Order: sequence, then C-alpha cells, then structure tokens
Amino acid sequence: MQEAKYINTTCSICGHNQCGVIVKLVDDKVVQIMPNREDPMSKGSICPKSIASVQLLYHPNRLKYPMKRAGPRGSGKWKRVSWDEALGEISEKLLQVKSEYGPEAVVMARGTNRGSWIRLFNRFANSFGTPNWTESGGAQCFTPRSIAQQLTFGGIALEWPDAESSKTIMVWGADPPASWAPKSRKIVNSKSGGSKVIVVDPVMSNMASKADVWLPVRPGSDVALAMGMINVIISEKLYDQEYVEKYTVGFESLKERVAPYTPDKVSEITWVPSDRIIEAARLFATNRPSSIAISATFDEIVDPIQLGRAVSIISAITGNVDVRGGNIFPETAGQIYVDTNDFIMIESLPEDLDKKRLGAQRYPLLSRYLKINFPMAHYPTILDAIITGEPYQIRAMFIMGGNPKLSIANSDRAAEALNKVDFLAVADLFLSKTAEMADIVLPVASWLEYDGLADSAQATYGHLRIRQKVATVGEAQSDTWIMIELAKRMNLKGFWNSEREYLDYILSPTGMTFEQLKGKGGIIYHEPDIGSKLRNGFNTPSKKIELYSERLKGWGYDPLPFYNEPFESPYSTPEVAKQYPLVLTTGRRVSAYFHTAQRNVPALRDIYPDPIVEINNDTAKKLGISDGDKVRVETRRGFVIMKAKLTQGIHPRVVGVQHGWPDIANDNRLTDNTACAVGIGSTTLRGLLCNIRREKQ
Ligand code: SF4
Repeated sequence: MQEAKYINTTCSICGHNQCGVIVKLVDDKVVQIMPNREDPMSKGSICPKSIASVQLLYHPNRLKYPMKRAGPRGSGKWKRVSWDEALGEISEKLLQVKSEYGPEAVVMARGTNRGSWIRLFNRFANSFGTPNWTESGGAQCFTPRSIAQQLTFGGIALEWPDAESSKTIMVWGADPPASWAPKSRKIVNSKSGGSKVIVVDPVMSNMASKADVWLPVRPGSDVALAMGMINVIISEKLYDQEYVEKYTVGFESLKERVAPYTPDKVSEITWVPSDRIIEAARLFATNRPSSIAISATFDEIVDPIQLGRAVSIISAITGNVDVRGGNIFPETAGQIYVDTNDFIMIESLPEDLDKKRLGAQRYPLLSRYLKINFPMAHYPTILDAIITGEPYQIRAMFIMGGNPKLSIANSDRAAEALNKVDFLAVADLFLSKTAEMADIVLPVASWLEYDGLADSAQATYGHLRIRQKVATVGEAQSDTWIMIELAKRMNLKGFWNSEREYLDYILSPTGMTFEQLKGKGGIIYHEPDIGSKLRNGFNTPSKKIELYSERLKGWGYDPLPFYNEPFESPYSTPEVAKQYPLVLTTGRRVSAYFHTAQRNVPALRDIYPDPIVEINNDTAKKLGISDGDKVRVETRRGFVIMKAKLTQGIHPRVVGVQHGWPDIANDNRLTDNTACAVGIGSTTLRGLLCNIRREKQ
C-alpha cells in the first residue's frame, strides 16, 4: 500500500457553496473527503453530500460510457458507443434541425451549476444560435430575485449578508443548515457571538429552531408580511432618515403604499400574530447593523418580483445596504476573471431570433428587458411548444445536468413533452429519470474527476479557486469538455481546443495559467469593497436605491411593491378550498440531497431514507394520521405518497412536502405550470391548496 496523499480541492456538488475540502487518496483511490479548516472561505464548512462523495464517485450505477438507445424510448435498452460516435451523432442531429427548421427548433436546457459551467453553457447556446436555452431553475431560482434586486439596488445584495458583523440577521424563506454550509456557519457563529436571528418560514426548520423570533408565514403570503414590516418601520419612524434621504428615491410614495398594511391586517393575511410582526420589524430596524439571507423561496411564490423588491426595501430603508454587517455587493464578475455578460455572447444572437425566444412576449422580465440576467426562454412555454407545436415545433433538446422530468412544475406535462421531442440528448452522472428517456446519454464526471475552476457562488464570494482531478471513472468527462468537443464538431465560434486552454483563458486577466494558480495555493480572493455604492452611486438610472421604480412603470408594471393573493388559496379560490382545505408548501430541502440527486448514495439515504410530509399534530389527529404513517397529499393536479412527520412546528392549516424525490413521491406532481407569475413566469411552488389522508399502510 502506498503512503496516503492529501489533495486540497473544491467541492461543488451543490454548486452554490464551493467549499474547500481535502481529499485523501490511498493507492490512487479516493478513500475520504474531509473539511479544509484552513480554507479562507469555507473555513471547514462541509455537508454530508461531500463526505459521501466517495460512494457517489465509485457508485456501481454511474454512467461510464456514452450510450445510445437500442429500443423504444424509455425501454431501458441501450448500446455502448464511443465518444466519437455519440458526439458526432448529437452534432449532426442538432445541425440538421438547425438547417431544416431554424436554430430555435433546438432547445438547450441545463440544470444545476455542479461545476461552474453555467455561463459556458449560455455561451454554447448563443454561439449555436438558439434563443431557446433555459434552466430548470430559470424562473424558479435566482433569476427573479436577482432581477428584483437589480431593479432596486442595481446589483445583488440579499444573497450576501455580512452575517459575521451583523447584530441582527433575518433569514427569509431559507434553511441555511440544509443548503448553505458556509452561510450557516457564519450565521450560527454570529448568533453565538450575541447577534439576534429572525426566521421567516412556515415550518420550524433547523434555522427557525435557533431563532429569537420565528415568523411562521402562510406559504405564499410573504409579500404581505414584508409590506407589514415596512409599515411598522415607517409608522414608528424606525427607518434611517439620513440614509433614506441620501441614498433612496420614492420614499413618500412607498409610505403611502404600505399604509394599508397594518400589523392587524397583515396578521389576517399571513397568519403570523401581529405582535410578532411588530417585534421582528423593531428588532431588525433598531438592533443594527442588520442583514438578510434569502433563498429560492423568493422565486417560487405567486409574485417573486414583488417579494424581492419588498424585502430589498426593508434592508434599504433601515440603512443596511452596502454597509459592514448589512447586505453587501461582492460583484466579482469581471474583476477577477473574464466571466462577464460579454463572455456568454448574448449579442451574437440576431434580433429576429431573440424575438422568437419562447415565453419572451409574455414574460419579458425573464427574457428581454434586462439583459443582465442571461435572458432565457421560459421552460413551461417550451414544454407547451413541444406538445402543441405552437408557436412552432421544437425538434431537438440537449439537456446538461438537469432532470426536468422531476424538477419542473406539473411534472407529468414535462414527461409528456420529453417523450414527444424528436431527438433528446442528456449528459449526467447517472441514468436519471430524464436520461432514461434520451436517445443518447453522455457520462459526466463528478467534481473529483476533472480540473476546473470554481467561482463566487451564492453562499461564498470574492474568490476564484481550482478544482483538481483526483480520480477517473470509466470514460466519464466533464461538462466543460463535452461542450468544447461539441463546439469543435459544430464549428461554433468562441470556443477552445481543449479544456486547459479554456481554463487558461478564464484566468487570463489574472496573468496566471491554471498550473500557475495551482502552484500558488489555488485560490484568488478579493475582499468586497463595502461602501463603494454609497460613495459612487448605485447602478440604477437614478444612481440611488429605487424604492419606486420608474423602469417598472415604463414597462407597464407597478412601480411599487404590492401583495397579490396566490392564484389558489383559501381566500382567492374558496370553492377549491372546500375540497382542498390545507395550504401546501413544496420544495423543502435536506442537507443530504441536492435537488433530485443523491437518493442512490447509501450513506445519504441512511440519513434521510423517506420522503417526508410535515403535518401539525392536531390536524393529523383529526385525520387519524400517526407519525410515520404513509399519507396521500393531493392537489387539483395530482397526488404524492409520503411519510408523515408530525410536528407542532407548522400551522394546523399548512402542510410541507420535501422536494426532489422520484415517482409517486415527486412533489412536482402537485404543482401547477400554467398560472405563472406576471412578467417573470415563475410557477407557484409555495402556497397551493391540498388535502391529505392516511393511506392504506
Ligand atoms: Fe459541497 Fe455544497 Fe456541501 Fe459545500 S455545501 S460541501 S459545496 S455539497
């Protein structure tokens, strides 16, 4: 046996955190993943997914070779083919569709950011020439909340609470211990040092259990809660008058707008006691500096733009934007390396094609108005186009790192569309539910199997760091390699001859190559320049924080935030509520899984063996449901079967289901993909109506 080797590298299973880890190798085999306590960013944060990566890496069901369908679609019959044949056939098919039907007939869709290749994928699609590139997240994750913040601050700040310097941290619609290991560490450290924590979550999450104030908001009514908090802050004159005068526009209009959102009124809407709304607003506004941590919940309610705007405004009027201990703007793109909007070659798409982007007319905030968030096609509209042929027929689809068969709202419709498309190629680590339907599947390398770069993510910032190849599994290749090889075969502009050339290009502004960066410790870190916006002006037309948005007004939207009842609720659809009396929140996360992945990793499945529905004890008792029972949760769209977890930590009229499970436990069998958010197209995943009953055990 050789002496053990230890390699510093970067985990990126979840793509959002980029934690520094140490990989232990014995006889060139990975035997252990450990936290790197010396890492300047993650400082030893790690989650079970990373620790269990040894099992994922050597999992017997990994896709090891490219495969081609050898029977009817979905029959499970495959034949092994060479990379040359697989890539050749994909290139040929995509080019053939492009020349016969136009590039818009090809959809390029991606899922998670498992290796910092999102923008390369955007470049790939734009260089190919299709306006129809999209993401499973798309209108459901990050984009809406970042657009709301771009409109308000001219940048993104709520993603980055400077939590270790905050005296109050408000965690809204997120459970950092489940999803954000480094952010969670910062918040918990800050709390241990005496800071206060407010948590807004319908369910008593891990983070909520540590909170000083917990606001169990009715799913989907978050905007009303935010408006109520603004009302308290303004009416009690707790706002930062000097900051508001100097750095914001539209305060008087805002004051008028929030006047009707009194704590009593908001309590009626949100089911949060009014004294708790007042307590939270006072704490946040007076125990400063205060910061806010948010997450994908913001993008999954009936009106994500309003929520992003309203919560941004809480931070702004209390003087907590761009200050130490508040919410900050790391904005490393373009400062450290070339990963800018130019990089994705947005402008290479001709205007006539841009106009054909599916969903662009109806959801212009997602697709057209602000070319700052990678304008994309609307996934549900794409699926409709595949099924109906309107406004034109989609012929081919190339999916990387995505599993829309499970992850898109109303997943039965997604399955129908995937089945109908003429040609489907999927790149993934395993034969996912989506890959099962493909014509060709490509085996993708895990984070341990390729050299790469990891950039600033939602939970960490200001850094660029390397990821190192420490293992090889079959013929699996990185997503980046796959795109570069396809680009070569299709003669796409703006690509490289090899992965290494690409990495060196990305690093070129630093004056270092990949090897040189590796030799220098593998990390570049930039301290955020806190206060630069206050000094130099915000990146908005007024150069100030826009509480009132002239841009929204100009585009025909309300310039001030307002509350919209969910499209389906006890108040908006009382008739539906007779049959489906409970309010449903879907999408709950646990630390062992990232979206639909990792259920097949034994060490992780041991931690969370079953799909869980959380139900209030009293409600369960009335319905004859005991803890651990099999329960059927049903909406107007469909039903799931999950295991009941009884708790006092949820409102008696609310139930919460976990996200990402396959088959009969897939929460997207319950969700709707037709009632999409105005302007941005998000489907509602939080705040639906359901009923539950005990299943035969
Ligand atoms: Fe890896 Fe994400 Fe877990 Fe960090 S939080 S260890 S990056 S999976």
